[in-house]
Amino acid sequence: MSTPRAYPVGTGWIEVVCGCMFSGKTEELIRRLNRARYATQRVVVFKPSVDVRYAAEDIVSHSDARLPCFPVTDASDILRRVGDAQVVGIDEAQFFGMELVEVANRLADEGRRVIVAGLDQDYRGVPFEPIPQLLAVAEYVTKAMAVCMVCGAPANRSQRLVHRERRVLLGSSDTYEARCRLHWQPDAFDSEQQRLPLADESG
Ligand code: ADP
Ligand code: MG
Repeated sequence: MSTPRAYPVGTGWIEVVCGCMFSGKTEELIRRLNRARYATQRVVVFKPSVDVRYAAEDIVSHSDARLPCFPVTDASDILRRVGDAQVVGIDEAQFFGMELVEVANRLADEGRRVIVAGLDQDYRGVPFEPIPQLLAVAEYVTKAMAVCMVCGAPANRSQRLVHRERRVLLGSSDTYEARCRLHWQPDAFDSEQQRLPLADESG
């Protein structure tokens, strides 16, 4: 994978970090943003205000790495608040909808480095827009993998553990776990079952 080494003069670009839950997207986003801060670049970070799982005004990884951010309701709010930032981080991008594609392109066209992290599939394995569209227009793409909680293999699916039909269900390790293709059960709730046992509960 080629990663930009320095902030180039006069051009911007889009980087996408995608994968399933627990794959380290937020950790990787924070790592890249911290490196930009060490390089004394002006950095700003956004997340959708619906994501209040750990903190209202930080992006937070499952390993508790965190960075202050602006929570915003719409992708267009990013344009209003971006100021003169050279590097723009956006976490949980799947909650922004298709408007984010135009916003990210515009920021990159203005000469900024745009780093977007988000889920590439929903709990049913359906590509989660706008990530597929962002992957198409991005200069740099990273697909991160988690560890399957059943067998330890690389995992790229999010297993929902509780029965809810809606696509967006905020949660963490009590609600989802990472699974490989073999152990992922998208149809687990077609039966009467309301909650799947965690992998380490099922023995
Ligand atoms: P994401 O943003 O992709 O959901 P995070 O960056 O928030 O992921 O969290 C990654 C961290 O989650 C890992 O460093 C590890 O501490 C923790 N973790 C919990 N379950 C798993 C798993 N099944 N596979 C990998 N990491 C996991
Ligand atoms: Mg995350």
